[in-house]
Amino acid sequence: MKIQDFKNKKVMVFGWARSGKAAAQRLVELSAIVTVVNGGAFDTDETIYQKLLAAGVTFINHDDDQAIDKSFDFLVKNPGIPYETAIVKKALGLDIPVLTEVEVALSSFDGRLIAVTGSNGKTTTTSLIRDMLKASGQTVTTAGNIGTPVSEVVGPLTSQDTLLLELSSFQLMGLPDIKPDIALITNIFANHLDYHGDRAHYVAAKYQITKNQTANQKLILNADGADTPDFAAKTQAQVVLFSRDNSSDMAWTDGHDLIIEGEHVMPLTAIKLVGPHNLENILAAITVSKIAGVTNEAIKSVLEVFGGVPHRLQYLLTENGVRYYNDSKATDIEATQTALDSFHEPTIWLAGGLDRGDDLTRLIPNLSHVKLVIAFGETQQKVVAIARQAHKPVITVTSVKEAVPVAISSSSAGDVVLLSPAAASWDQYPNFEVRGDEFVNELKENLGV
Ligand code: ADP
Repeated sequence: MKIQDFKNKKVMVFGWARSGKAAAQRLVELSAIVTVVNGGAFDTDETIYQKLLAAGVTFINHDDDQAIDKSFDFLVKNPGIPYETAIVKKALGLDIPVLTEVEVALSSFDGRLIAVTGSNGKTTTTSLIRDMLKASGQTVTTAGNIGTPVSEVVGPLTSQDTLLLELSSFQLMGLPDIKPDIALITNIFANHLDYHGDRAHYVAAKYQITKNQTANQKLILNADGADTPDFAAKTQAQVVLFSRDNSSDMAWTDGHDLIIEGEHVMPLTAIKLVGPHNLENILAAITVSKIAGVTNEAIKSVLEVFGGVPHRLQYLLTENGVRYYNDSKATDIEATQTALDSFHEPTIWLAGGLDRGDDLTRLIPNLSHVKLVIAFGETQQKVVAIARQAHKPVITVTSVKEAVPVAISSSSAGDVVLLSPAAASWDQYPNFEVRGDEFVNELKENLGV
C-alpha cells in the first residue's frame, strides 16, 4: 500500500486508546477524511482531541453499527477489538477493509522493515535485536506491540531507516499488505485461542507476517516448531532456521560456547540472560541481526550486559553473592515454571496474586531447588499448600514489599531470589509493572544500593 492510498479516503478509526489516537493523527497527516468512533465519551479537553477536531475529524461516541455505512473506504480498529463487534461485522459485510494502526503507518514507510511475532519471547527478542543493531552502529526505530504505536514514529523515517516492529497476532490480522525484509516467528503455542477461535486461525494470523514476502526477503523460523515445515514450504521468502536443541543455520551452542557461523564468540557463562527459553530468544535475535549486518563483536557486547526486559525474568543485581531476579510478568503457571526451571541454585521464591482458580499443584515438580517460599496475595494459601506438599519451608507476608526484607535476611551467598508470582497482580496492584517496581524499589532500599 502506498501513501496516496489514504489520501482523500474516508476512514473510520474505531477505538480511542493510544493506537487509535496515533492512527487518527497519522491519517490526518496523510490527508484522509477521518471519523473516530468510541464506545464511551471523549475527553474534550484533551489536546489531541482538540487538535484533530480543528483538523476536521468527526467524533462519534457510540459504537452501534449505525456509525458505519458503505461510504467508508477503510475501518482501522484497535487490535483488541474482536471481529464479532457490530461495527466490524458490518464493515466486513460491506467489503470495507478492516485494518490496524500498523497498516496505516506502514503505508508511507519505504525503508528496511524487520518484523517479529510469536506466542512468547517477542519483547525479549525484539529488544535484543534493537540493542544488537545499535551496538553495531546502525540506527533503528522500534515500535508496535512493544509499546509505541507505529504511527507515532513513522512520520520522519526515510528509505535509509530501519523500522523494527514487534507484532501480536491481533495486529497481524489487520495487516493484509505487510511485507517485511526480515520476518521472525519466535514460536507458536496454542494460546490466545479465546480470541482467535481455534488454532488454525491463530496459525493463519502468524503466517500473515510472511504471506507477501518475496524471494529476496528472509523468514526466520524456529526449527523445533510444529508449524515450521508447513510455513517453510509455503513461503516465497528464504527460510533461515534457529534452534535451541537441533541444527541451526546461523547461531548455535556446543553446550559451552555460543557459536556464530562457526566462530566461538563467547562462553555461555558470560551471557547475562538466564533460562533455556531465553537462549532460544538469543539465537533468534542473532539470526536476524547477522542477516541485518551486525558483527559478532557487537552481539557479544550486548549479551554481556543485557539482563532482560523489565519484569520478565529480569536480572537486577548481585549483592553479597545473592542474585536477584524480577519476573513480575509471570502471571500464569507456565511462565513461573519457565522461571523456576531457569535456575539450579538454591532459590528463594516469592509468589502469589490474583486467584483465577488455577491448579498450582502443577508447580510442585519445579520446586526441587527452592529453599524457601514466601507467599502473599489472594493465592497465598494455595502457595502455602504446594510448598508444604513439596516439603519446603514457607513464610506468609502481606505484600511484595513485606516479602523483600524476609528474602534478604533468609538468603546466603550463591542463592537466587526470584519474584515470579504465577498469578496476575490485580488483587493488590494496578498491574504487574507496579508489582515489579515495588520489588525493585524495596530491594534497593533494603540493600542500600
Ligand atoms: P512476549 O512479548 O511474546 O509476551 P516476552 O519476551 O515479554 O514475550 O516474555 C514473556 C514471558 O514469556 C517470559 O517471562 C517467559 O516466561 C516466556 N517466554 C519468553 N520467551 C520464551 C520462549 N522462547 N519460549 C517459551 N516461553 C518464553
